[in-house]
Order: sequence, then C-alpha cells, then structure tokens
Amino acid sequence: MSSRPGDTQGTPAAAPGAEIAVRLDGVTKRFGPAIALDRAWLKIARGEFMTLLGPSGCGKTTLLNLVAGFLAPDEGEIFIDGAVVTDVPAFARQTGIVFQNYALFPHMSVTNNVAYGLKARGVGKDEIRRRVAEILAMMKLTGFEDRKPRQLSGGQQQRVALARALVIEPKVLLLDEPFSALDKNLRGSMQVEVKEIQRRLGVTTIFVTHDQSEALSLSDRIAVMSSGRICQIDTPEALYRRPADRFVASFIGDGSLLRATLDQTHADGAIVSIGPTKIGVPAGPLAGTAAGSSVDLFVRPQHLHLAAGADTAFVGKVAATIYQGDHVDLYVDAPDAASGRLMMRLAARDASRIPDVGLAVAIGISSDDAVAFPAEA
Ligand code: ATP
Repeated sequence: MSSRPGDTQGTPAAAPGAEIAVRLDGVTKRFGPAIALDRAWLKIARGEFMTLLGPSGCGKTTLLNLVAGFLAPDEGEIFIDGAVVTDVPAFARQTGIVFQNYALFPHMSVTNNVAYGLKARGVGKDEIRRRVAEILAMMKLTGFEDRKPRQLSGGQQQRVALARALVIEPKVLLLDEPFSALDKNLRGSMQVEVKEIQRRLGVTTIFVTHDQSEALSLSDRIAVMSSGRICQIDTPEALYRRPADRFVASFIGDGSLLRATLDQTHADGAIVSIGPTKIGVPAGPLAGTAAGSSVDLFVRPQHLHLAAGADTAFVGKVAATIYQGDHVDLYVDAPDAASGRLMMRLAARDASRIPDVGLAVAIGISSDDAVAFPAEA
C-alpha cells in the first residue's frame, strides 16, 4: 500500500511482483478552473482487466484519454511498459481504443477499417492480409470482409471496432463504454466474448463504465472514481465487502445506512452497537473517531433479517414488498434507526413469512462484513 500524497487506499499491484504495464504518477488534468482528474495514482499489471467505474462526469474518460495520449496532463507522469509516455503522441503509444460509438470509417470496408492501423504503421501487404484475416476469424467476422459499417448490426460493428483496436497488437487496450449502444441481451453475450478474447490474448485492458454490475462481472480490479478522484482500487469482491468510504459503499451494490454508536476500537477492528446488537466492523474507516461517537453502519440487504426477542436490533414498519423471482425485497421505515428507507432481501421460498405492508416488524442484523463510517454532520 502506498502512502504518497493523493494516493488512495488499497492500491497494491494485482499480484506482488507483477510487471506493471501502465502507471499513473500523480496525474492531474484541468479544464479551465475545473479539475477533471485530481492527482491520480494507478498501477495496472500486465494482462490485467482494470475498470474505471463511477458516475457521469467523474473523470473516467479523461483518464482513458490521458493514457491514449489524446490529452496531456497538467501535472504528473504516465508510463507504459516502464517508459515515460507523457509527451509521446497518441499514434506512437501503441494503444488500441474502442470508442462508445465505435467511430468506424463509414466509407471503408470491414477489411480496410481493420487494416488501417497496420497500413499507417507501414506493415507489409502480405502481413496485413494475414493479420486481418486472423483477427476477423477470431471476431467471427469471416465472410463480412467487404461490407461497409452501415451494412452491419450493432454487435458486428462493435466486433469490427475491437478487431481494429487489437490487430495492431496494442500494449494497452482502451475500452470506453463499448457496450452502451447494444441492447441488453447482446450486451451480455458481447461482454462474455470480450472478456474471453482479452484473457486469451492477455492484453492489458482499461475499461470505462458507469455500470457497476458490468464492472463487477468483468474486472480483475476496479478503480472507483468520484469527482475526479480515485476513491478505491480493489478486486470486485473486496470493493463489495470492504468499501473504503461511504461513496464506494453506496455505489457498489445495494445497502442501507443505520445510525449506530462506536463502542470501541482495537487492533483488529471496531465494535459498534445498535440497540442491544453488537457488530464487528473494520477499524480503518473509523480512524480518529472517539468511542461513544455516532457512526453510520452500512449493511447489505441480506444482512438484515426478521427477528424475534433478544435478536432484535430495532423495529420498523413495512413500506413495500417487491417480488423479484428468487427473492423478495422488503422496504422498511425505521425512523429510530435510520433516516432513509431500509432494504432487506428475503428468500422467496419464505414467502409465507413475508409481512404485509403496514405491519410492524422486528429486525436483526447478522453480518460478518458490515462497515461503519463516521456519522455525516
Ligand atoms: P461520462 O460517464 O458522462 O462519460 P466521465 O466520468 O467519463 O463521464 P469525463 O468525460 O472524464 O467524465 O469528464 C470529467 C469532467 O471534466 C466533467 O466535469 C466534464 O464536464 C469535464 N470535461 C471533460 N472534457 C472537457 C473539455 N474538453 N472541456 C471542458 N471540460 C471537460
């Protein structure tokens, strides 16, 4: 873990000793007075699938464009394969990029779209023919060589864009929301295909999305961003189970905030209480918070259950029940325990136990991986 200024928590390389393919050292980008990217420190291991995840305007595309060389940083350095590329122009960086709208050349055939980068690099004709045929076969586009982009479906166009990016054998593949133009079913199958190809080729990939389920399912690690800052870099599971701050907690997966009290902090963690219930949480996010202080306890829907007797942490009233197939989401108002509405998830097979709207319910908390944050002022 690094302690440099502006660095974020949980930022080890994917594996100790892994070769670093892309590195950002304190990179800042301003547009006039606005800071689009604020001192970003990031290391991406060779072959890693790293996702930049965050809400609209948080700086994801800016970071991607800085690595591609379409933008120059105001501060900091960018490295690819250990060499400083901060001042190297985009065409010389050996990155392949797939844009959100694919940006295919409309007047060129599939073959010419894909061959473009190789021609620009002065690769010989025979080799171009061989490499284009190879990548089109991999992308299941054999037989489409002479079509123009407008004669292809959205999924096929996306494959052409990917083929065009990969055929140059880039050091880094940059994907800017590549699935957003596809319908839901096609998106799912393209995600699986892209992940498979990425793994097979072992190409280091930076993937931009604001869709957390896409990020969780595809990535080796995710950098969660907010307002130009990288908040946390970690594996999908670690982000879900041990979010470093309340933004990451609420952005990744569902959850609710409960008012609790910090009982004590010790070397291995902290204990917070809500009613008679004591819950162990990581100490990190509560560093500097005094015992007895109010804290916000963040729990996932499956951490709350219908309780009885001593198991009860607090009581509430059912506001809505939503059937979801294999489970039922229960929304509960509990003004003594939380200012917002709480969400619980109950197995649908327990349907006979699901209380009606308006009923008072006792709720218990069972969680090995709840997290707490200092209460917001
Ligand atoms: P989205 O998911 O909507 O694409 P993003 O996370 O990729 O968003 P960026 O496009 O990186 O966000 O933008 C980050 C911030 O920088 C935003 O506030 C944006 O308005 C601003 N910005 C981006 N490009 C420019 C520009 N060329 N000129 C001025 N401001 C810009």
